[in-house]
Amino acid sequence: KSARVMKQAVAHLVPFIEARKGAERQAKGRIVMATVKGDVHDIGKNIVGVVLQCNNYEVIDLGVMVPAERILATARERKADMIGLSGLITPSLDEMVNVASEMQRQGFEVPLLIGGATTSKAHTAVRIEPAYHAGPTVYVPDASRCVNVAAQLLSADQAPAYRSAIRAEYANVRDRSAARSAKRELLALGEARANAFAWDWARYQPPRPAVLGVQVLDDVPLETLVPYIDWTPFFMTWELAGKYPDILDDAVVGASARSLFDDARAMLAELIGKRQLRARGVFGLWPCNRVGDEDLAVYTDESRSHELVRLHHLRQQAVKPEGQPNLSLADFVAPPPVADYLGAFAVTAGLGIETALAGHPNDDYAQIMIKALADRLAEAFAEYLHERVRKHDWGYAADESLDNGALIREQYQGIRPAPGYPACPEHSEKTTLFALLGAADATGMQLTESFAMLPAAAVAGWYFAHPSARYFGVGKIGTDQLEDYAARKGWDQLTARRLLRPALQD
Ligand code: SAH
Repeated sequence: KSARVMKQAVAHLVPFIEARKGAERQAKGRIVMATVKGDVHDIGKNIVGVVLQCNNYEVIDLGVMVPAERILATARERKADMIGLSGLITPSLDEMVNVASEMQRQGFEVPLLIGGATTSKAHTAVRIEPAYHAGPTVYVPDASRCVNVAAQLLSADQAPAYRSAIRAEYANVRDRSAARSAKRELLALGEARANAFAWDWARYQPPRPAVLGVQVLDDVPLETLVPYIDWTPFFMTWELAGKYPDILDDAVVGASARSLFDDARAMLAELIGKRQLRARGVFGLWPCNRVGDEDLAVYTDESRSHELVRLHHLRQQAVKPEGQPNLSLADFVAPPPVADYLGAFAVTAGLGIETALAGHPNDDYAQIMIKALADRLAEAFAEYLHERVRKHDWGYAADESLDNGALIREQYQGIRPAPGYPACPEHSEKTTLFALLGAADATGMQLTESFAMLPAAAVAGWYFAHPSARYFGVGKIGTDQLEDYAARKGWDQLTARRLLRPALQD
Protein backbone atom coordinates (compact mmCIF):
# COMPACT_ATOMS: atom_id res chain seq x y z
CA LYS A 1 0.00 0.00 0.00
CA SER A 2 2.88 2.35 0.77
CA ALA A 3 4.20 1.53 -2.67
CA ARG A 4 0.95 2.63 -4.26
CA VAL A 5 1.08 5.99 -2.43
CA MET A 6 4.77 6.36 -3.18
CA LYS A 7 4.32 5.72 -6.89
CA GLN A 8 1.55 8.28 -7.09
CA ALA A 9 3.68 10.81 -5.21
CA VAL A 10 6.71 10.18 -7.40
CA ALA A 11 4.62 10.43 -10.57
CA HIS A 12 3.45 13.81 -9.30
CA LEU A 13 6.96 14.99 -8.45
CA VAL A 14 8.85 13.76 -11.50
CA PRO A 15 8.03 16.79 -13.71
CA PHE A 16 9.31 19.13 -10.97
CA ILE A 17 12.44 17.08 -10.41
CA GLU A 18 13.15 16.93 -14.12
CA ALA A 19 12.60 20.67 -14.40
CA ARG A 20 15.60 21.15 -12.09
CA LYS A 21 18.32 20.78 -14.67
CA GLY A 22 21.11 18.38 -13.83
CA ALA A 23 19.38 16.97 -10.79
CA GLU A 24 19.14 13.19 -10.94
CA ARG A 25 17.36 10.91 -8.59
CA GLN A 26 20.00 8.88 -6.82
CA ALA A 27 18.99 5.33 -5.90
CA LYS A 28 20.83 3.48 -3.14
CA GLY A 29 21.54 0.65 -5.54
CA ARG A 30 20.22 -1.21 -8.53
CA ILE A 31 19.04 -4.80 -8.42
CA VAL A 32 18.08 -7.14 -11.25
CA MET A 33 15.52 -9.68 -10.02
CA ALA A 34 13.89 -12.70 -11.64
CA THR A 35 12.02 -15.91 -11.01
CA VAL A 36 14.33 -18.50 -12.56
CA LYS A 37 13.77 -20.51 -15.74
CA GLY A 38 11.04 -23.14 -15.43
CA ASP A 39 9.38 -21.48 -12.44
CA VAL A 40 6.34 -19.23 -12.53
CA HIS A 41 5.62 -17.97 -9.06
CA ASP A 42 6.39 -14.37 -8.27
CA ILE A 43 4.29 -13.07 -5.38
CA GLY A 44 7.18 -13.16 -2.90
CA LYS A 45 9.60 -11.67 -5.41
CA ASN A 46 7.15 -8.89 -6.24
CA ILE A 47 6.74 -8.03 -2.56
CA VAL A 48 10.53 -7.89 -2.20
CA GLY A 49 10.67 -5.61 -5.25
CA VAL A 50 8.08 -3.26 -3.80
CA VAL A 51 9.81 -3.13 -0.42
CA LEU A 52 13.16 -2.36 -2.06
CA GLN A 53 11.62 0.34 -4.26
CA CYS A 54 9.98 1.97 -1.26
CA ASN A 55 13.44 2.13 0.26
CA ASN A 56 14.92 3.85 -2.77
CA TYR A 57 16.51 0.92 -4.53
CA GLU A 58 16.10 0.73 -8.28
CA VAL A 59 14.48 -2.59 -9.18
CA ILE A 60 14.70 -4.14 -12.64
CA ASP A 61 12.25 -7.01 -12.47
CA LEU A 62 12.55 -9.46 -15.36
CA GLY A 63 9.44 -11.43 -14.37
CA VAL A 64 9.08 -15.21 -14.36
CA MET A 65 10.69 -18.13 -16.28
CA VAL A 66 13.81 -16.08 -16.97
CA PRO A 67 16.84 -17.93 -18.40
CA ALA A 68 20.26 -17.36 -16.80
CA GLU A 69 21.64 -15.66 -19.93
CA ARG A 70 18.96 -12.98 -19.81
CA ILE A 71 19.42 -12.30 -16.11
CA LEU A 72 23.17 -11.95 -16.49
CA ALA A 73 23.09 -9.96 -19.73
CA THR A 74 20.67 -7.48 -18.14
CA ALA A 75 22.74 -7.24 -14.98
CA ARG A 76 25.83 -6.49 -17.07
CA GLU A 77 24.13 -4.00 -19.38
CA ARG A 78 22.40 -2.12 -16.60
CA LYS A 79 25.41 -2.28 -14.28
CA ALA A 80 23.38 -3.89 -11.50
CA ASP A 81 24.75 -3.71 -7.96
CA MET A 82 22.97 -6.94 -7.00
CA ILE A 83 21.15 -9.89 -8.55
CA GLY A 84 18.10 -11.48 -6.88
CA LEU A 85 16.79 -14.96 -7.75
CA SER A 86 13.46 -16.37 -6.73
CA GLY A 87 11.84 -19.80 -7.06
CA LEU A 88 9.01 -21.83 -5.61
CA ILE A 89 9.57 -25.44 -6.68
CA THR A 90 12.51 -27.76 -5.99
CA PRO A 91 13.80 -27.96 -9.63
CA SER A 92 14.50 -24.22 -9.28
CA LEU A 93 17.15 -25.01 -6.66
CA ASP A 94 19.29 -26.53 -9.43
CA GLU A 95 18.58 -23.67 -11.79
CA MET A 96 19.82 -21.24 -9.13
CA VAL A 97 23.06 -23.23 -8.85
CA ASN A 98 23.30 -22.96 -12.62
CA VAL A 99 22.89 -19.16 -12.53
CA ALA A 100 25.47 -18.95 -9.72
CA SER A 101 28.00 -21.03 -11.72
CA GLU A 102 27.45 -18.80 -14.74
CA MET A 103 28.06 -15.71 -12.60
CA GLN A 104 31.34 -17.22 -11.49
CA ARG A 105 32.31 -18.21 -15.04
CA GLN A 106 31.45 -14.79 -16.48
CA GLY A 107 33.45 -12.97 -13.82
CA PHE A 108 30.63 -11.35 -11.85
CA GLU A 109 31.44 -10.07 -8.38
CA VAL A 110 28.12 -8.48 -7.33
CA PRO A 111 26.07 -9.89 -4.44
CA LEU A 112 23.62 -12.67 -5.23
CA LEU A 113 20.40 -12.74 -3.18
CA ILE A 114 18.38 -15.96 -2.94
CA GLY A 115 14.74 -16.26 -1.90
CA GLY A 116 11.51 -18.22 -2.39
CA ALA A 117 9.58 -21.11 -0.92
CA THR A 118 11.92 -24.09 -1.36
CA THR A 119 15.14 -22.12 -0.92
CA SER A 120 16.87 -22.19 2.44
CA LYS A 121 19.99 -21.03 4.19
CA ALA A 122 21.23 -24.63 4.12
CA HIS A 123 20.79 -25.01 0.35
CA THR A 124 22.29 -21.57 -0.26
CA ALA A 125 25.31 -22.41 1.87
CA VAL A 126 25.80 -25.98 0.66
CA ARG A 127 25.14 -25.63 -3.06
CA ILE A 128 24.87 -22.03 -4.26
CA GLU A 129 27.67 -20.22 -2.45
CA PRO A 130 30.32 -22.81 -3.46
CA ALA A 131 29.24 -22.32 -7.10
CA TYR A 132 29.70 -18.55 -6.89
CA HIS A 133 32.57 -17.56 -4.63
CA ALA A 134 33.65 -14.37 -6.41
CA GLY A 135 30.92 -12.36 -4.72
CA PRO A 136 28.73 -12.67 -1.63
CA THR A 137 25.71 -15.00 -1.77
CA VAL A 138 22.98 -14.36 0.78
CA TYR A 139 19.76 -16.19 1.58
CA VAL A 140 16.92 -13.75 2.32
CA PRO A 141 14.21 -15.58 4.28
CA ASP A 142 11.49 -12.98 3.78
CA ALA A 143 10.74 -9.61 2.28
CA SER A 144 11.04 -7.76 5.57
CA ARG A 145 14.78 -8.61 5.65
CA CYS A 146 15.71 -7.55 2.14
CA VAL A 147 16.38 -3.86 2.86
CA ASN A 148 18.67 -4.63 5.75
CA VAL A 149 20.59 -7.20 3.70
CA ALA A 150 20.86 -4.89 0.68
CA ALA A 151 21.96 -1.94 2.81
CA GLN A 152 24.73 -3.91 4.51
CA LEU A 153 25.95 -5.49 1.28
CA LEU A 154 26.25 -2.15 -0.48
CA SER A 155 27.46 0.07 2.36
CA ALA A 156 31.11 1.01 1.98
CA ASP A 157 31.71 0.82 5.76
CA GLN A 158 29.67 -2.22 6.67
CA ALA A 159 30.08 -4.45 3.62
CA PRO A 160 33.49 -6.00 4.37
CA ALA A 161 32.53 -7.09 7.89
CA TYR A 162 29.05 -8.19 6.81
CA ARG A 163 30.37 -10.20 3.88
CA SER A 164 32.93 -12.04 5.95
CA ALA A 165 30.38 -12.70 8.70
CA ILE A 166 28.04 -14.29 6.12
CA ARG A 167 30.92 -16.35 4.67
CA ALA A 168 31.84 -17.63 8.12
CA GLU A 169 28.21 -18.41 8.96
CA TYR A 170 27.67 -20.35 5.72
CA ALA A 171 30.90 -22.31 6.17
CA ASN A 172 29.50 -23.28 9.54
CA VAL A 173 26.17 -24.30 8.03
CA ARG A 174 28.06 -26.49 5.52
CA ASP A 175 30.03 -28.19 8.28
CA ARG A 176 26.91 -28.89 10.30
CA SER A 177 25.09 -30.21 7.23
CA ALA A 178 28.02 -32.52 6.36
CA ALA A 179 28.12 -33.81 9.93
CA ARG A 180 24.36 -34.46 9.83
CA SER A 181 24.65 -36.36 6.54
CA ALA A 182 27.52 -38.45 7.85
CA LYS A 183 25.50 -39.35 10.92
CA ARG A 184 22.26 -39.98 9.06
CA GLU A 185 21.60 -43.66 8.73
CA LEU A 186 19.39 -44.92 5.93
CA LEU A 187 17.91 -48.38 5.66
CA ALA A 188 18.73 -50.37 2.55
CA LEU A 189 15.78 -50.20 0.17
CA GLY A 190 15.03 -53.88 0.80
CA GLU A 191 14.86 -53.31 4.56
CA ALA A 192 12.62 -50.28 4.10
CA ARG A 193 10.31 -52.36 1.90
CA ALA A 194 10.21 -55.09 4.51
CA ASN A 195 8.90 -52.45 6.94
CA ALA A 196 6.19 -51.10 4.58
CA PHE A 197 2.74 -50.10 5.84
CA ALA A 198 0.95 -53.38 6.63
CA TRP A 199 -2.71 -53.94 5.82
CA ASP A 200 -4.87 -57.04 5.65
CA TRP A 201 -6.04 -56.66 2.04
CA ALA A 202 -7.84 -60.02 2.08
CA ARG A 203 -10.29 -58.58 4.61
CA TYR A 204 -10.73 -55.18 3.00
CA GLN A 205 -13.08 -54.13 0.25
CA PRO A 206 -12.03 -50.81 -1.35
CA PRO A 207 -14.95 -48.51 -2.17
CA ARG A 208 -15.87 -48.63 -5.86
CA PRO A 209 -16.37 -45.19 -7.47
CA ALA A 210 -19.88 -44.36 -8.60
CA VAL A 211 -18.48 -42.76 -11.76
CA LEU A 212 -15.29 -43.96 -13.44
CA GLY A 213 -13.32 -42.00 -16.05
CA VAL A 214 -12.55 -38.33 -16.63
CA GLN A 215 -14.89 -35.40 -15.96
CA VAL A 216 -14.26 -31.77 -16.87
CA LEU A 217 -15.49 -28.81 -14.83
CA ASP A 218 -15.67 -25.94 -17.22
CA ASP A 219 -15.94 -22.48 -15.68
CA VAL A 220 -16.87 -23.10 -12.05
CA PRO A 221 -18.34 -19.84 -10.66
CA LEU A 222 -15.88 -18.20 -8.25
CA GLU A 223 -18.80 -17.65 -5.82
CA THR A 224 -18.96 -21.43 -5.42
CA LEU A 225 -15.30 -21.53 -4.35
CA VAL A 226 -15.19 -18.57 -1.95
CA PRO A 227 -16.69 -20.47 1.04
CA TYR A 228 -13.88 -23.04 0.68
CA ILE A 229 -11.04 -20.51 0.98
CA ASP A 230 -8.48 -21.16 3.69
CA TRP A 231 -7.56 -17.61 4.69
CA THR A 232 -4.62 -18.37 6.98
CA PRO A 233 -2.11 -18.88 4.12
CA PHE A 234 -3.38 -15.64 2.56
CA PHE A 235 -2.09 -13.71 5.56
CA MET A 236 1.17 -15.67 5.47
CA THR A 237 1.66 -14.48 1.88
CA TRP A 238 1.68 -10.94 3.23
CA GLU A 239 3.96 -11.95 6.11
CA LEU A 240 1.26 -11.46 8.72
CA ALA A 241 1.58 -14.32 11.19
CA GLY A 242 -1.47 -15.85 12.85
CA LYS A 243 -4.47 -18.08 12.27
CA TYR A 244 -7.60 -16.78 10.60
CA PRO A 245 -10.03 -15.57 12.03
CA ASP A 246 -8.15 -14.88 15.30
CA ILE A 247 -5.57 -12.85 13.39
CA LEU A 248 -8.18 -10.14 12.79
CA ASP A 249 -8.16 -9.41 16.53
CA ASP A 250 -4.46 -9.94 17.12
CA ALA A 251 -2.90 -7.36 19.43
CA VAL A 252 0.03 -6.69 17.10
CA VAL A 253 -1.10 -7.35 13.51
CA GLY A 254 -4.90 -7.21 13.99
CA ALA A 255 -5.41 -3.75 12.50
CA SER A 256 -3.22 -4.52 9.46
CA ALA A 257 -4.87 -7.92 9.01
CA ARG A 258 -8.33 -6.38 9.14
CA SER A 259 -7.55 -3.71 6.59
CA LEU A 260 -5.88 -6.28 4.31
CA PHE A 261 -8.89 -8.58 4.67
CA ASP A 262 -11.28 -5.74 3.77
CA ASP A 263 -9.24 -5.01 0.65
CA ALA A 264 -9.22 -8.73 -0.20
CA ARG A 265 -13.01 -8.99 0.08
CA ALA A 266 -13.42 -5.90 -2.11
CA MET A 267 -11.05 -7.31 -4.74
CA LEU A 268 -12.82 -10.69 -4.62
CA ALA A 269 -16.12 -8.92 -5.28
CA GLU A 270 -14.53 -7.14 -8.23
CA LEU A 271 -13.04 -10.37 -9.65
CA ILE A 272 -16.39 -12.13 -9.30
CA GLY A 273 -18.31 -9.18 -10.77
CA LYS A 274 -16.10 -8.65 -13.80
CA ARG A 275 -15.85 -12.39 -14.61
CA GLN A 276 -12.29 -11.98 -15.88
CA LEU A 277 -10.84 -14.78 -13.76
CA ARG A 278 -12.07 -18.23 -14.66
CA ALA A 279 -11.78 -21.53 -12.80
CA ARG A 280 -11.53 -24.74 -14.74
CA GLY A 281 -10.68 -28.24 -13.61
CA VAL A 282 -10.55 -31.87 -14.55
CA PHE A 283 -10.57 -35.04 -12.49
CA GLY A 284 -10.80 -38.76 -13.01
CA LEU A 285 -11.22 -42.07 -11.19
CA TRP A 286 -9.82 -45.36 -12.44
CA PRO A 287 -9.29 -48.98 -11.46
CA CYS A 288 -5.79 -49.20 -10.01
CA ASN A 289 -3.50 -51.71 -8.34
CA ARG A 290 -0.12 -51.63 -6.73
CA VAL A 291 2.53 -53.43 -8.76
CA GLY A 292 5.83 -54.23 -7.16
CA ASP A 293 6.54 -52.16 -4.08
CA GLU A 294 6.16 -48.51 -5.07
CA ASP A 295 4.41 -48.43 -8.45
CA LEU A 296 0.75 -48.10 -9.31
CA ALA A 297 -0.87 -49.41 -12.47
CA VAL A 298 -3.86 -47.37 -13.62
CA TYR A 299 -6.22 -49.36 -15.85
CA THR A 300 -8.58 -48.30 -18.62
CA ASP A 301 -11.50 -50.25 -17.16
CA GLU A 302 -12.62 -52.86 -14.67
CA SER A 303 -11.25 -55.73 -16.75
CA ARG A 304 -7.82 -54.42 -15.66
CA SER A 305 -6.39 -55.90 -18.84
CA HIS A 306 -5.12 -52.66 -20.36
CA GLU A 307 -2.77 -50.44 -18.41
CA LEU A 308 -3.33 -46.74 -19.08
CA VAL A 309 -0.31 -45.40 -17.20
CA ARG A 310 2.19 -46.53 -14.58
CA LEU A 311 2.80 -44.22 -11.61
CA HIS A 312 6.05 -44.27 -9.68
CA HIS A 313 6.45 -43.49 -6.02
CA LEU A 314 9.29 -43.36 -3.53
CA ARG A 315 9.66 -44.93 -0.10
CA GLN A 316 11.00 -43.54 3.17
CA GLN A 317 14.41 -44.99 4.03
CA ALA A 318 15.00 -43.32 7.38
CA VAL A 319 15.45 -45.60 10.38
CA LYS A 320 12.04 -45.60 12.12
CA PRO A 321 11.19 -46.10 15.76
CA GLU A 322 9.78 -49.53 16.62
CA GLY A 323 6.29 -50.00 15.20
CA GLN A 324 6.44 -47.17 12.63
CA PRO A 325 6.37 -48.14 8.94
CA ASN A 326 8.61 -46.90 6.12
CA LEU A 327 5.86 -45.39 4.00
CA SER A 328 5.29 -45.09 0.29
CA LEU A 329 2.06 -43.66 -1.14
CA ALA A 330 1.79 -46.91 -3.12
CA ASP A 331 1.18 -48.73 0.18
CA PHE A 332 -2.33 -47.24 0.27
CA VAL A 333 -3.49 -49.07 -2.87
CA ALA A 334 -4.25 -52.81 -2.89
CA PRO A 335 -2.19 -55.29 -4.90
CA PRO A 336 -4.13 -57.62 -7.27
CA PRO A 337 -6.53 -59.37 -7.12
CA VAL A 338 -8.29 -56.84 -4.84
CA ALA A 339 -10.24 -54.34 -6.97
CA ASP A 340 -8.88 -50.96 -5.86
CA TYR A 341 -9.08 -47.48 -7.39
CA LEU A 342 -7.21 -44.19 -7.65
CA GLY A 343 -8.16 -40.64 -8.58
CA ALA A 344 -6.37 -37.64 -10.08
CA PHE A 345 -7.21 -33.96 -10.43
CA ALA A 346 -5.88 -30.70 -11.85
CA VAL A 347 -7.57 -27.37 -11.18
CA THR A 348 -6.80 -23.73 -11.88
CA ALA A 349 -8.39 -20.43 -10.93
CA GLY A 350 -5.91 -18.35 -12.87
CA LEU A 351 -7.34 -18.34 -16.39
CA GLY A 352 -7.70 -14.76 -17.59
CA ILE A 353 -5.51 -13.34 -14.81
CA GLU A 354 -3.55 -11.21 -17.33
CA THR A 355 -6.75 -9.27 -18.10
CA ALA A 356 -7.53 -8.86 -14.41
CA LEU A 357 -3.97 -7.61 -13.75
CA ALA A 358 -4.08 -5.26 -16.75
CA GLY A 359 -7.12 -3.62 -15.14
CA HIS A 360 -4.80 -2.34 -12.38
CA PRO A 361 -1.77 -0.92 -14.17
CA ASN A 362 1.02 0.54 -12.00
CA ASP A 363 -0.65 -0.71 -8.86
CA ASP A 364 1.60 -3.33 -7.26
CA TYR A 365 -0.70 -3.72 -4.28
CA ALA A 366 -3.74 -4.57 -6.42
CA GLN A 367 -1.70 -6.88 -8.65
CA ILE A 368 -0.17 -8.82 -5.78
CA MET A 369 -3.65 -9.00 -4.21
CA ILE A 370 -5.13 -10.48 -7.40
CA LYS A 371 -2.39 -13.13 -7.59
CA ALA A 372 -2.71 -14.01 -3.92
CA LEU A 373 -6.50 -14.36 -4.29
CA ALA A 374 -6.17 -16.48 -7.44
CA ASP A 375 -3.87 -18.82 -5.48
CA ARG A 376 -6.42 -19.04 -2.67
CA LEU A 377 -9.23 -19.74 -5.14
CA ALA A 378 -7.17 -22.53 -6.74
CA GLU A 379 -6.64 -24.17 -3.32
CA ALA A 380 -10.32 -23.63 -2.53
CA PHE A 381 -11.18 -25.32 -5.85
CA ALA A 382 -9.04 -28.33 -4.85
CA GLU A 383 -10.88 -28.50 -1.51
CA TYR A 384 -14.31 -28.11 -3.12
CA LEU A 385 -13.60 -30.77 -5.75
CA HIS A 386 -12.14 -33.23 -3.24
CA GLU A 387 -15.32 -32.95 -1.16
CA ARG A 388 -17.48 -33.50 -4.22
CA VAL A 389 -15.46 -36.56 -5.24
CA ARG A 390 -15.63 -38.10 -1.75
CA LYS A 391 -19.37 -37.51 -1.52
CA HIS A 392 -20.51 -38.16 -5.08
CA ASP A 393 -18.15 -39.42 -7.77
CA TRP A 394 -16.13 -41.83 -5.65
CA GLY A 395 -18.94 -41.63 -3.14
CA TYR A 396 -17.33 -43.38 -0.19
CA ALA A 397 -18.25 -40.50 2.12
CA ALA A 398 -21.79 -39.77 0.96
CA ASP A 399 -22.85 -38.74 4.48
CA GLU A 400 -19.87 -36.52 5.20
CA SER A 401 -20.85 -33.12 6.54
CA LEU A 402 -17.90 -30.91 7.44
CA ASP A 403 -17.65 -27.14 7.76
CA ASN A 404 -14.73 -25.21 6.23
CA GLY A 405 -12.72 -25.42 9.47
CA ALA A 406 -13.03 -29.22 9.54
CA LEU A 407 -12.07 -29.42 5.86
CA ILE A 408 -8.97 -27.31 6.52
CA ARG A 409 -8.11 -29.64 9.43
CA GLU A 410 -8.51 -32.55 6.96
CA GLN A 411 -11.05 -34.38 9.11
CA TYR A 412 -12.17 -36.58 6.23
CA GLN A 413 -11.18 -39.95 4.87
CA GLY A 414 -8.57 -39.90 2.10
CA ILE A 415 -5.83 -37.55 0.90
CA ARG A 416 -4.93 -35.58 -2.25
CA PRO A 417 -1.11 -35.56 -2.33
CA ALA A 418 0.44 -33.25 -4.91
CA PRO A 419 3.51 -34.26 -6.96
CA GLY A 420 6.44 -32.11 -5.86
CA TYR A 421 5.28 -32.18 -2.23
CA PRO A 422 6.96 -34.30 0.46
CA ALA A 423 5.06 -37.62 0.02
CA CYS A 424 5.71 -37.58 -3.75
CA PRO A 425 8.61 -35.13 -4.19
CA GLU A 426 9.59 -36.10 -7.74
CA HIS A 427 8.05 -33.48 -10.04
CA SER A 428 8.17 -35.30 -13.40
CA GLU A 429 5.20 -37.46 -12.33
CA LYS A 430 3.09 -34.38 -13.13
CA THR A 431 3.66 -35.21 -16.81
CA THR A 432 1.91 -38.56 -16.29
CA LEU A 433 -0.80 -36.87 -14.23
CA PHE A 434 -1.47 -34.33 -16.98
CA ALA A 435 -1.47 -37.01 -19.71
CA LEU A 436 -3.85 -39.23 -17.74
CA LEU A 437 -6.31 -36.36 -17.31
CA GLY A 438 -5.80 -34.74 -20.69
CA ALA A 439 -5.36 -31.69 -18.47
CA ALA A 440 -3.87 -29.39 -21.10
CA ASP A 441 -6.76 -29.84 -23.52
CA ALA A 442 -9.44 -29.88 -20.85
CA THR A 443 -8.29 -26.82 -18.91
CA GLY A 444 -5.58 -24.95 -20.81
CA MET A 445 -3.10 -25.70 -18.01
CA GLN A 446 0.53 -26.27 -19.03
CA LEU A 447 3.73 -27.62 -17.47
CA THR A 448 7.03 -25.78 -17.79
CA GLU A 449 10.34 -27.61 -18.35
CA SER A 450 10.71 -27.74 -14.55
CA PHE A 451 7.15 -29.07 -14.13
CA ALA A 452 5.72 -25.86 -12.70
CA MET A 453 2.07 -25.39 -13.62
CA LEU A 454 0.75 -22.52 -15.68
CA PRO A 455 -1.35 -20.56 -14.80
CA ALA A 456 0.51 -20.23 -11.51
CA ALA A 457 -2.76 -20.40 -9.55
CA ALA A 458 -3.13 -24.15 -9.95
CA VAL A 459 -3.20 -27.36 -7.92
CA ALA A 460 -2.88 -30.95 -9.12
CA GLY A 461 -2.62 -34.26 -7.33
CA TRP A 462 -3.79 -37.81 -6.67
CA TYR A 463 -6.78 -39.02 -4.70
CA PHE A 464 -6.27 -41.90 -2.30
CA ALA A 465 -9.36 -43.15 -0.44
CA HIS A 466 -7.76 -45.62 1.97
CA PRO A 467 -8.81 -44.96 5.59
CA SER A 468 -5.15 -44.99 6.71
CA ALA A 469 -3.86 -42.81 3.88
CA ARG A 470 -2.02 -39.80 5.26
CA TYR A 471 0.55 -37.18 4.31
CA PHE A 472 4.19 -37.77 5.16
CA GLY A 473 7.62 -36.84 3.86
CA VAL A 474 9.71 -39.32 1.87
CA GLY A 475 12.83 -37.63 3.27
CA LYS A 476 16.29 -38.62 2.13
CA ILE A 477 16.76 -41.66 -0.10
CA GLY A 478 19.84 -43.76 -0.85
CA THR A 479 21.53 -44.48 -4.18
CA ASP A 480 19.98 -47.96 -4.11
CA GLN A 481 16.52 -46.40 -4.37
CA LEU A 482 17.77 -43.87 -6.92
CA GLU A 483 18.91 -46.71 -9.17
CA ASP A 484 15.74 -48.70 -8.64
CA TYR A 485 13.57 -45.66 -9.42
CA ALA A 486 15.66 -44.80 -12.50
CA ALA A 487 15.20 -48.34 -13.83
CA ARG A 488 11.43 -48.17 -13.26
CA LYS A 489 11.22 -44.79 -15.01
CA GLY A 490 13.61 -45.79 -17.81
CA TRP A 491 16.01 -42.99 -16.89
CA ASP A 492 19.78 -42.81 -17.17
CA GLN A 493 21.78 -42.01 -14.04
CA LEU A 494 22.22 -38.36 -14.93
CA THR A 495 18.50 -37.72 -15.33
CA ALA A 496 17.81 -39.59 -12.11
CA ARG A 497 20.37 -37.54 -10.18
CA ARG A 498 18.99 -34.30 -11.59
CA LEU A 499 15.36 -35.06 -10.81
CA LEU A 500 15.91 -36.68 -7.43
CA ARG A 501 18.67 -34.37 -6.16
CA PRO A 502 16.60 -32.69 -3.41
CA ALA A 503 15.79 -36.16 -1.99
CA LEU A 504 19.28 -37.59 -2.31
CA GLN A 505 21.49 -38.24 0.67
CA ASP A 506 24.34 -35.74 0.16
N1 SAH B 1 -5.86 -25.39 3.10
C1 SAH B 1 -4.52 -25.30 2.56
C2 SAH B 1 -4.22 -26.57 1.85
C3 SAH B 1 -2.90 -26.56 1.15
S1 SAH B 1 -1.70 -27.54 1.91
C4 SAH B 1 -4.47 -24.12 1.59
O1 SAH B 1 -5.51 -23.63 1.18
O2 SAH B 1 -3.38 -23.66 1.28
C5 SAH B 1 -2.36 -29.01 1.70
C6 SAH B 1 -2.21 -29.60 0.32
O3 SAH B 1 -0.84 -29.72 -0.05
C7 SAH B 1 -2.77 -30.98 0.37
O4 SAH B 1 -4.11 -30.95 0.02
C8 SAH B 1 -1.91 -31.72 -0.61
O5 SAH B 1 -2.38 -31.55 -1.92
C9 SAH B 1 -0.58 -31.04 -0.49
N2 SAH B 1 0.28 -31.68 0.52
C10 SAH B 1 0.49 -31.28 1.79
N3 SAH B 1 1.38 -32.06 2.41
C11 SAH B 1 1.74 -32.98 1.51
C12 SAH B 1 2.64 -34.07 1.54
N4 SAH B 1 3.35 -34.36 2.63
N5 SAH B 1 2.77 -34.81 0.43
C13 SAH B 1 2.07 -34.53 -0.68
N6 SAH B 1 1.21 -33.52 -0.77
C14 SAH B 1 1.04 -32.74 0.31
